[in-house]
Amino acid sequence: MFVQLRYTFRLYPAPGQCQALARAFGCARVAYNDTIAARREAWGDGQRRLSDAEVSKRLTESKKTPERAWLAEVSSVVLQQAIAEANSAHRNWLASLSGKRKGPTLGAPRFRSRRDNRQAIRFTKNARFAITTGGKLRLPKIGDVLVTWSRDLPADPSSVTVILDAAGRYHASFVVQVDDALLPPVETEAGIDLGLASFAVCSNGRVIDNPRFLRNAEKRLKRAQQALSRKEKGSNNRKKAVRTVARANAKVADARKDFLHKTSTTIIRENQAVYVEDLCVKGLARTKLAKSVHDAGWGLFLRLLQEKAARYGRTFAKVDRWFPSSQVCSACGIKDGPKPLSVREWTCPHCGTRHDLDQNAARNIHLEGRRTAAGRAASACGEDVRPGSGPADPDEAGTHRSAA
Ligand SMILES: [Zn+2]
Repeated sequence: MFVQLRYTFRLYPAPGQCQALARAFGCARVAYNDTIAARREAWGDGQRRLSDAEVSKRLTESKKTPERAWLAEVSSVVLQQAIAEANSAHRNWLASLSGKRKGPTLGAPRFRSRRDNRQAIRFTKNARFAITTGGKLRLPKIGDVLVTWSRDLPADPSSVTVILDAAGRYHASFVVQVDDALLPPVETEAGIDLGLASFAVCSNGRVIDNPRFLRNAEKRLKRAQQALSRKEKGSNNRKKAVRTVARANAKVADARKDFLHKTSTTIIRENQAVYVEDLCVKGLARTKLAKSVHDAGWGLFLRLLQEKAARYGRTFAKVDRWFPSSQVCSACGIKDGPKPLSVREWTCPHCGTRHDLDQNAARNIHLEGRRTAAGRAASACGEDVRPGSGPADPDEAGTHRSAA
């Protein structure tokens, strides 16, 4: 079995390379936006669908016009990748409209802007990017860019995405296909309840709190945001404050990612099966819980658990998000009514068990997750499924399995 992993490193392009990258970001954006516009127009015109070949041909033709001639200055693979992203964004939208795609209804794909917080371009193998013997990243029509390698790539990367974030930092994110390394099996399993008071509560009693360094970084971000709101529009001080906020934001994002990576690794190592509630993070994000949901990084946490479970041969399942994990007694199974968020403890009226609400929810998620996983194993019967390995949810980007 092979799994795809992402390895991300900091890039330090020279000034000329920054210019070339800015040009590539701009061209990719135009190719993306032109594709979205063309598809949108065709769809508005009697719900016509353009084929991928048609879209590609339009780009090739537009390069011959004076308005778009400058697109030829960047690697064509970068443009093709941008078009492919626009194609799948449009298709996902149509699938969501027709109900073929699970989850909340998607909005029509937005146009990308030079003011977006994240600019990205993707080079595939066809683009002939390479890692030089001197350890630099060779990008076509950009040059040899300095990379800080914090760890070794386990295999040849199949693609690299170059990202510029709001804090002005460049990163290279490599996709690498590796043989999955199974961890020795263990007896324990865990249901995990993601909380607001603490980050997560496990059914085995372990409580995971948000670490202090993350809370501190968040406090600094808040202060920077408040300082920004007091600055006069258009002033130099405001520009400075915007940069401070962007840097504080990047610090929070890094601290959170680090915490989520370490926590998910520990949980996957210690448990043979991990069950979580499918939060439908997008749906929650529209409610007033929005800020805490985003801050807690739950979406990324679930993705990391799923990827690592696939990589190390552990079971991973999401429990239906409508499953009333906080209303059922995990001891006797009776369903009590909903409880306000302020209630932290609860005594079951049927069997008299005294519950901590989060612990009870985690135990319910554990029980329901086992049922979900067992049902899935039964329905997959006859296919070549390795016992103990959780097949990846096909809707989740991240881990893609392929036969060895
Ligand atoms: Zn009970």
